[in-house]
Order: sequence, then C-alpha cells, then structure tokens
Amino acid sequence: MFKYVFGPVPSRRFGKSLGVNVVPLKYCNWNCVYCQLGRTNHFINSTVDFFNYEEIEEEIKIATKMYDYDYLTFIGDGEPTLYKDLGILIKWSKENQPKKVAVFTNGARLKMEEIRSYMSYADVVKVSNDAGDEKTFRIVDRPYRDIHFDDFMEGLKQFRKEFNGEIWSEVMLVKGVNDKEEELENIGRSLKAYSPDKVHIMVPTRPPAEPWATAPDSQKILEAGKILSKYVNNVYIIDYIERGEFYVDKDNPVNGILNILKIQPMTEEEIKDISFKYNVNIDNIKEKAREVVFNGIKYYVY
Ligand code: SF4
Repeated sequence: MFKYVFGPVPSRRFGKSLGVNVVPLKYCNWNCVYCQLGRTNHFINSTVDFFNYEEIEEEIKIATKMYDYDYLTFIGDGEPTLYKDLGILIKWSKENQPKKVAVFTNGARLKMEEIRSYMSYADVVKVSNDAGDEKTFRIVDRPYRDIHFDDFMEGLKQFRKEFNGEIWSEVMLVKGVNDKEEELENIGRSLKAYSPDKVHIMVPTRPPAEPWATAPDSQKILEAGKILSKYVNNVYIIDYIERGEFYVDKDNPVNGILNILKIQPMTEEEIKDISFKYNVNIDNIKEKAREVVFNGIKYYVY
C-alpha cells in the first residue's frame, strides 16, 4: 500500500523510526565505500523533482495514525536534500503529526542557505562526519567533484549557529581507511568545530558498497571513542547489528518488507521473523530480493 513510508523499523538511535523515503535508489552526491545501498549510480548534486509531495503527505497522514512510532524520519535511497520538496514535507510534518521529525543527510548541502533554512524545522538532523580532511573525505565518502571538505565544514558550522534542534554526527569507521590515530585526531578537531549534540561511532555491520569496507577490531573502536571524546561530549559507540521488531502494513506485508529492504538489508533471521509475524510465504520475499553475504552472514537486499 505504501510507496514512500516504511517501518517503523528499530533504529539504533531513534527508537521506533517511521521512515519516509524521498529519493529513488542511489541518487546521491557521495559514493561512500560503506554505503549499504551499493555504489552510487546516479551521481548528482542538484535538486530533482523526484516525486509529487502531496502523495507523500497522504501516506504520512495515514501511516502516522496507523503506527506507534518515536520519530518520523526523512531518509532516502540516496541523499534526501536532493529532493526538491523535502523542505515542504519537513514543515508540513511538524504541523500535522505529533512526534519528533528527524532528517538523515550526509550534510554536504548544508552550506546552502535554502537547505539550512528548511532543515531548521526538524528536531534532529543526522549528518555524516567520516573524515577530518580533504584527502580522507575523498577516500571514504568519495563526494561529487564540486564538493570539498572545507565547504562541507563551513555548512556544518553555519548550521550549528542557526539551528535550535539537535545535530547528531555519525562517524563510520572503516578498517585501514579512517581508523588511524592521526585520522581520528583530525575527525575530532572537525567535530569540535561545530559541536554536535551527540556523536555516534559506527562500523559497517550490513553489506557495504565495497566488500573491503569492513569494521576495525574492537580495540581500535574503543581507542577511537577515547580520541573523539577529547574533543566533544556525548560520544557513543554502536558496533553491533541492532535487533528489534520491524513493522509493516498488514494489508500488504510483502510490499512493506520490500520497502524496508530497499533502505536496510535484513538478515535471513530477520526475514524469517517478520514473514512469520505477518503470515507471509518467505519465498515471496526471497525470489524478489537479492542475497549478499557479509562477514559470514547472509543478508537480503532489494
Ligand atoms: S551512505 Fe548515504 S551519503 Fe553515502 S553514498 Fe550511501 S546514501 Fe549517499
């Protein structure tokens, strides 16, 4: 039934997150080595009128009455700020549903006044801060050619000055790429420059775009936590696959499960659980989804 809304899904940081997907698959201005959606094959950095925002509003209206959720979360199969009408939807959601609104962005377009202006209606803006200099930025996030680290930082600093809500930064650690002491000191300095409210150190736990983009060992992750904590408060480590209950529309559970798989690969065990819960023949999911093995665990993606 739903085309844009999915979940609620258990989120590491947002509790029960009712997701709204506003970007088609892999339209992005970065091409992160760890992206669980695969490599970026629509590499753009300008806004596109992907969808009719009124259709999305209609779905949000229905879904927010159907489900119990903690956050309404705007996210994409790519970078949400590339959607022309994201601002309309954020403002509308603040006025027309009762829960907090979060936006997941890489943060690269916050240097634009127009983007900062509509983002300021959100309660939480989650940004990615995987590097502390241009060189590492280009290795781990592989941004569009016109996006540079200094501009990215300027956008974050300006947004911090203007935004009354919370900025949560995500630092995705990739083994051998941004986990060395010097890199982490640089990342710490870059975080300090705009003082996010929370910092989440994460590692690839689901299949990444590049198979070599794996998690550092636990000792390195702990060291990373200590180094970043010298620069900013509220540093949390999330280095596990989160478990929790997924929810989908019970009138069309196959479609609901596939909508989640577009955004988040699920393990075989998770697919079994949700298929059992909604009385779905698991083969209907498996024949549409693609199988990927990562860290010895089998996942399904769509
Ligand atoms: S992780 Fe986010 S920013 Fe990076 S390529 Fe994937 S969708 Fe784009």
